[in-house]
Amino acid sequence: MPAKIKILFLAAEAEPFVKIGGLADVAGSLPLALRSLPFEATGGAMLDVRLVLPFHRAIRAEVATLHQAAEFSVHRHGGNIPVQVLEISSGGMPVYFISGAPISNSPTVYSPNPALDREKYAFFSLAALELTRQLDWYPDIVHANDWHTALALYALRSQQPDPQLRRARTVFTVHNLPYMGGDGSDVLSAYGLMPLNDDSLPKWAQTQPLPLGLWSADAIIPVSPTYAQEIQTPGFGCDLDPYLRTRTNNLSGILNGLDINTWNPETDKALAACFNANELPVRAVNKAALQKALELKDDTRIPLLVMIGRIDQQKGLDIAFEALHLMADKSWQFVLLGSGDRALEDAACRLQMDFPDRVRMAFRYDEALGRLLYGGADMFLMPSRYEPCGLAQMIAMRYGNVPVVRATGGLKDTVEEGRTGFLFGEASPGSMVEALRRALTVHADPEKWQHYQRNGMREDFSWPRSARRYASIYHSLLSGL
Ligand code: ADP
Repeated sequence: MPAKIKILFLAAEAEPFVKIGGLADVAGSLPLALRSLPFEATGGAMLDVRLVLPFHRAIRAEVATLHQAAEFSVHRHGGNIPVQVLEISSGGMPVYFISGAPISNSPTVYSPNPALDREKYAFFSLAALELTRQLDWYPDIVHANDWHTALALYALRSQQPDPQLRRARTVFTVHNLPYMGGDGSDVLSAYGLMPLNDDSLPKWAQTQPLPLGLWSADAIIPVSPTYAQEIQTPGFGCDLDPYLRTRTNNLSGILNGLDINTWNPETDKALAACFNANELPVRAVNKAALQKALELKDDTRIPLLVMIGRIDQQKGLDIAFEALHLMADKSWQFVLLGSGDRALEDAACRLQMDFPDRVRMAFRYDEALGRLLYGGADMFLMPSRYEPCGLAQMIAMRYGNVPVVRATGGLKDTVEEGRTGFLFGEASPGSMVEALRRALTVHADPEKWQHYQRNGMREDFSWPRSARRYASIYHSLLSGL
């Protein structure tokens, strides 16, 4: 085992530079957590993890702290594309930002135009690999995340001419299986990547980035143990389940951790009042602040239910809206913070029209309001149809906000019925109503409710536990050489 293991960590987004969703939380904290593991957790090796991100327009970085790390070009059909790489140090870790025309041509992190995204991320993936050659820093492990960076693994496996780079082992974390990147035949051929000639993957998948990443990976890591099982079944496998079952031996789920310093109700400046597990009544100050700001009835005894997240079919918002209709006889208030799917946003507006006194919507990304909702509301709803891991329910628990969730993926692995939250099985309003009624009954007994809150707040969702599991995967891949 080398004294130092070099890990190239590739992602489309990472905190604190740019965030769209949970991937940014993970890519922002896992590399640092890996770097700070004690030697006994890494087989005595130092983990030299380096993060590479596209230099999106939205990147937040002090320009003065950036310096140029490399300049080279990536070959594309019809000519070379110049690449400029800027570097910054984040908590002692080198972070590289790749820039070039396919990245600057696309104004947002993820574009509504899939072709623009495929071009951007294919270019990014290949430039990130080439960067390691330019720096003469050859990784032992290339760790990619989701479809955006999957082609780096495929390029490494299928056509990498440099033997020093080719010997790297590959890890692919799957945060969201259904987003595969679409048919990439055009970019594959434009960037000179050979089509896959292996029928272990279904024909349609042989040109899509995510399946090619799965095919190329030595280790496939879905972001929770339950999701790792689920994607091997027809209900969740998006037609890749037969292939994934052939990879069972290379597939294991690792739950995402939470950055417990960023998410800490004792120090969170966005809260009206900070608190810990021994000062739960203080939370009422945050609830009162929310009711005032959102012009809801100012009565902190009314259960306040919230949802925070992308407004997407995946998240089961329609199930929650219908369940709330079915619970009209009960006393509750409901706040939704998020944006996304227009039809679901319209459905949310209809809910607000039906319950004008007790429903509020905020269709935007709002970090501060999100934090106040975590720290002031009573119940956190996540009726997801599928949920690879889910961070929001872990944040909610850490803030004494009791989750009511569907028993799927990471929700099932992190929330425990009767101890930290309430679960329901079927993705239906009726099933959710049963869980909500159980929750409201317990909520009516403050002592019992505080039990749930404290249990949730004392759960250990910190990164070191998950980072150790990643380190042992790296270790086993490299010992197998
Ligand atoms: P996903 O990765 O599927 O989007 P997660 O639950 O894993 O969902 O992570 C979502 C993260 O993004 C959480 O940190 C959540 O607080 C945050 N988030 C999502 N939407 C919003 C929003 N509109 N305003 C503030 N924070 C948001």
